[in-house]
Amino acid sequence: MGSTHAMGGFVIWFALERAHLSPPLGIVVLVIGSLLPDIDHPHGTLRQVMDLPKFLAQPVNEILPHRGPTHTIWAGISFSLLTIGLAAWAGNSLLVTLGTGLAMLIGYGSHLVLDSLNPSGVKWLSPWKDSKLHGPIRTGSRGEEFFFYGLIVAFILAALWQY
Ligand SMILES: [Zn+2]
Repeated sequence: MGSTHAMGGFVIWFALERAHLSPPLGIVVLVIGSLLPDIDHPHGTLRQVMDLPKFLAQPVNEILPHRGPTHTIWAGISFSLLTIGLAAWAGNSLLVTLGTGLAMLIGYGSHLVLDSLNPSGVKWLSPWKDSKLHGPIRTGSRGEEFFFYGLIVAFILAALWQY
């Protein structure tokens, strides 16, 4: 699922970049944002990169059930505000600061949208509202494969689009 998420983030960034709407660190922030929600997943891409030792990974798994608190719009907003804080602290202009925060929000949001296509679904507004958004595409299935190719087609369309 990690590659699909990163691909989703990348395609969105590419479209923004072509429309000259992307801040300098946009792609980095956007792809990090698209992978960040799965820090609660033992086999998530970021977790594997960080490679937490077992004695740490176990408690993190217990504190954060998969598709728990990190799979909500609140977590997305929190990480975006954090990004805005970091970008402002680094001395960026207001426009770049807000753009970088928006890149995080779009990346994070794209992850939640992609997970919402999965039967396990996403409780976007949990714990405020427990309703779940879910779809028919199973992780690691033909469906995800087709979806991944769909993203590549979207990428080619974004590349060919005349602004
Ligand atoms: Zn996820």
